[in-house]
Amino acid sequence: MNQKLIEEIIKVIGDNPNREGLKDTPKRVAEMWKQIFRGYDIKQKPSITTFDNNNDGVFYDQMIVDSGYFFSHCEHHMVPFFGEYHFAYIPDKKIVGLSKVARIVDFYSARLQIQERLVKDILDELEIELHPKGLALVIKARHLCKEMRGVLKHGGEMITTDLRGVFKEDESTRMEFMNYIK
Ligand code: ZN
Repeated sequence: MNQKLIEEIIKVIGDNPNREGLKDTPKRVAEMWKQIFRGYDIKQKPSITTFDNNNDGVFYDQMIVDSGYFFSHCEHHMVPFFGEYHFAYIPDKKIVGLSKVARIVDFYSARLQIQERLVKDILDELEIELHPKGLALVIKARHLCKEMRGVLKHGGEMITTDLRGVFKEDESTRMEFMNYIK
């Protein structure tokens, strides 16, 4: 990738790209960007393996909940926003391993994003593969573009929720999920 561009950015910030400490920085940043923005490389998109429900003699019709962490970059300022996600689904004919869900979250996080699109990208993908009875995703994140500039008080979190199917239609299902993730 174009290390010259990163040298230019260092100059614009007001530093000297030729000083000792910054000598290898453009190269390192270029390498790192390949990794943290791998979400643009469609070849790295994880394939979602689904299983037939009932395939091991158990029919899953309960809510399956999983949580984890994610790291992304705000598309308005190109600095990180990061936090936790809480995912749930109620299967119909297909089930999926939760490690796959985590990899889908990783993949769509590795782009310039806004929180609203991130939840949508993740659920769209899983909805297509699973056709579940319901899907839910809550993301709670800290935005460095706000915190570093003092717009939000330190620790201020932004919460985005996407509820589909029974999570949207049925209040008791929704409440059950919300209670799990409190
Ligand atoms: Zn921002």
